[in-house]
Amino acid sequence: MQGLLSVVIPAYNEEQMIEKAISVIGSVLQGAEIPHELIFVDDGSSDTTWRRLSDAARRDSHVHGIHFSRNFGKEAAIMAGLAQARGDCCVVIDCDLQHPPEKIPEMYALWQQGYEVVEGQKSSRGAESMAHAWAAKWFYALISRATGFDMSSASDFKLLDRKAVDVLINMQERNAFFRALSSWIGFQTISISFDVQEREAGQSKWSTKALFRYAVNNIASFSTAPMQLITGLGILMLILSIVLGGIALAQKFMGQALEGFTTVILIQLFSSSIIMISLGIIGYYIARIYDEIKGRPRYIVADTCGYDDES
Ligand code: UDP
Ligand code: MG
Repeated sequence: MQGLLSVVIPAYNEEQMIEKAISVIGSVLQGAEIPHELIFVDDGSSDTTWRRLSDAARRDSHVHGIHFSRNFGKEAAIMAGLAQARGDCCVVIDCDLQHPPEKIPEMYALWQQGYEVVEGQKSSRGAESMAHAWAAKWFYALISRATGFDMSSASDFKLLDRKAVDVLINMQERNAFFRALSSWIGFQTISISFDVQEREAGQSKWSTKALFRYAVNNIASFSTAPMQLITGLGILMLILSIVLGGIALAQKFMGQALEGFTTVILIQLFSSSIIMISLGIIGYYIARIYDEIKGRPRYIVADTCGYDDES
């Protein structure tokens, strides 16, 4: 079956990469004779990304573009691209070509054999600082526990069958973590490994602060472990208080009750900090509930290009 392949490409301030991505991905797919469309999602770029995209869409009928009203983040961009895709299967790939497009025909062939989700697994993580690698290791350890899948080499480079795409775009979650959700939905899955390439031009869009927020958000959206931690701490404090209470009472009956002021201060400080941290964690989850319940759209589309029904 030669089904249509939609390639979803999130792009945020990628003016240096747009044309390159179109020509490289386009020629790989043309070479393999795969019917395809390229759906670029401009995630509210502040550079010339959108202008270059609309120009390219005019020249090349394979190219389609969606322009967000502001930056909504990569996950939202992927969801928008999937929602717009008309293909029988979709591939999600980074605009910076760090995910090798040469792998797409291989993924497509697996889809033709009947696999519904083809996961790209990083066989190496590319160049990173030590602190980054360390933080990533912890993050993936937590996420893997929370989802029950090994996420340590997971990436956003995936092929999804129409069935899987429909499930994903109909999910109600505002805060979707694409990488984990696409494992969570199940389906007939197979992995292929790839080497992360160097970024050819432009810069990574992730500051340390953004990565930290991303990690915390995604852990919270897949796991309630931090809240269970509070229960654990409560039990610990209870045991501590029984022991110390026993000592204090014994001392009182032996007539030496005035000692131990330092202990009182230490326990006071310790328990109040634990209480505050706990309130913070609970507050964070409440904020997340609030976000979800408002039901705001995941993204706002300001403009599209490359679709016939527009002027
Ligand atoms: N991206 C996006 N919105 C953002 C940040 C990034 O659509 O807010 C896109 C970006 O254009 C690229 C992909 O997500 O196509 C991966 O981003 P980047 O290369 O900066 O991340 P890294 O490869 O360093 O993890
Ligand atoms: Mg990149």
